[in-house]
Amino acid sequence: MRRWGFLIAIIALAAGLWWQRAPLGEAAYAQIAGLRAGRDGLAGHSDGLTLIFCGTGTPLPDPDRAESCLLVQAGTNLLLIDAGDGGVRKLAGWGVPLGGLDGVLISHLHSDHIEGLGPALLMRWTGSAARTPLPLIGPAGTARVAAGFNEMLAADATYRTGHHGEAITPTGGGVFSGRDVAPGVVWNRDGLVVTAFAVDHAPIAPAFGYRLQYKGRVVVISGDTSASPAVAAAAQNADLLVHEALQPRLVADITRGLERAGQPRTAQITRDILNYHTTPEQAADLAAQAKVGMLVLTHIAPPLPSRLLHAAFLGDAATRFAGPIRIAHDGLLLHLPAGSKTIEDDAF
Ligand SMILES: [Zn+2]
Ligand SMILES: [Zn+2]
Repeated sequence: MRRWGFLIAIIALAAGLWWQRAPLGEAAYAQIAGLRAGRDGLAGHSDGLTLIFCGTGTPLPDPDRAESCLLVQAGTNLLLIDAGDGGVRKLAGWGVPLGGLDGVLISHLHSDHIEGLGPALLMRWTGSAARTPLPLIGPAGTARVAAGFNEMLAADATYRTGHHGEAITPTGGGVFSGRDVAPGVVWNRDGLVVTAFAVDHAPIAPAFGYRLQYKGRVVVISGDTSASPAVAAAAQNADLLVHEALQPRLVADITRGLERAGQPRTAQITRDILNYHTTPEQAADLAAQAKVGMLVLTHIAPPLPSRLLHAAFLGDAATRFAGPIRIAHDGLLLHLPAGSKTIEDDAF
């Protein structure tokens, strides 16, 4: 009998909780929202170079990875390098404030590197009541992309200023100022020097990699490229090489699946992409040639739905480069403190 009483009490409690689910949910949400809203995901780091991987995927559909997106903080500098679809929304979800964004650097004009520019513009504008355009810097064609986004968002900018007012979304802050640049120093402010260098993403040209230098720490970002000596040259003795990577053996599995499913055109696209990307093994060779401290792979193709696939993705990369190799994930944070050789990691 006692057991029956216990069971009835449990059922009554569960029924009571179900009955009260709306006020209970509201109370729980108030607690969680109070903790999450307004937090500063950039706070708490020593002076140095900080990288937040906001998008480590490609145009191949991947529920775990946004398209190319990397946030860089160094001193008072806050830069976005590429803004693919979904990346900036992830930053916002992690509580990383973008009001202080100083500019966006674009590696090249493939859609998976620029589709998230609209949210980047909006987050910076609403985050700081910016009155000046957001600089958009990249290879030839970047100014045209800036003008296109400005045109696309012209009505939206008017709506926001009209609705929230000049004090919150002032006229003049919701637009890009685009600038086409040649290889060379493209950013030099408060100790951060960013140098663009040409990489080999043929037939897409120009396409840039970027070398970041801040207080003795050096990070090189390959952009999209086939295995290129230009990357090894730019990355000589760098602390960190962030390199794109595509594993052809795994992409071939997708190609075969598409052919079996009667989708020959999409299958052909998965064959075409092989000739302008770098395999993990080639990236490891370049890291060894450049004698970098660490290799981080990003722009991961194909999607890897489980960590169990990381070994298959890497192949024999670890035998080619003696240093640490990491596969970046959305939310990875790497911090290179000034005046040190260490690389700290964290995750959102
Ligand atoms: Zn890409
Ligand atoms: Zn590309």
